[in-house]
Amino acid sequence: MRPSGDLEVLLREVRACRACEPHLPLGPRPVLRAAPSAKVLIAGQAPGTKVHESGLPWDDASGERLRDWLGMSREVFYDETRIAIIPQGFCYPGRGKNGDLPPRKECEELWHGRLIAGLPNLEVFVLAGRYAHAYHLGPRRKRNLTETARAWRGYAPRYFPLPHPSWHNNHWLKVNPWFEAECVPALRAAVRSLVRPEPASAVP
Ligand code: SF4
Repeated sequence: MRPSGDLEVLLREVRACRACEPHLPLGPRPVLRAAPSAKVLIAGQAPGTKVHESGLPWDDASGERLRDWLGMSREVFYDETRIAIIPQGFCYPGRGKNGDLPPRKECEELWHGRLIAGLPNLEVFVLAGRYAHAYHLGPRRKRNLTETARAWRGYAPRYFPLPHPSWHNNHWLKVNPWFEAECVPALRAAVRSLVRPEPASAVP
């Protein structure tokens, strides 16, 4: 099922958004993918410069690691009828002293509620990084990312609060081996059955 009806109209509106244009060094280019049939949501932070240029989210080393955590091929990951990719900020926000700036808050205020409402079949929310934890878990998250991720059993199987898969978190992954040993296998099991193609209908 491709985007249709209300969601298609909404996605067109989002892709034409210019709400924070004066703050975006490379200008607006909202990057997101969704169709009403999607069962898994990938919620990350915001595009980097490479994704701003290509328009293809997670087409980098972080995406490779995320697909490995999910046990998912590129073909499935980029099938919007199965996987919705809705980061907290849709446009590249620019650079600060310590790397890319946080996602623009305007996206959450303007778009996220309506987009999530347009995806009634979502069953698993994959939350990559603290901005996605904050938006999707709200007051249910713990004091910090590590505590929230460590408490994953209390949110699963609907929500999986993960660290961001960026190389910046290599040290975090090293000192938190329980994540790849325990949480990742549970995440793979939760999404595996949801992303199988529909069986071909029987010929009468
Ligand atoms: S970051 Fe979000 S709110 Fe700002 S222009 Fe892009 S889509 Fe619009």
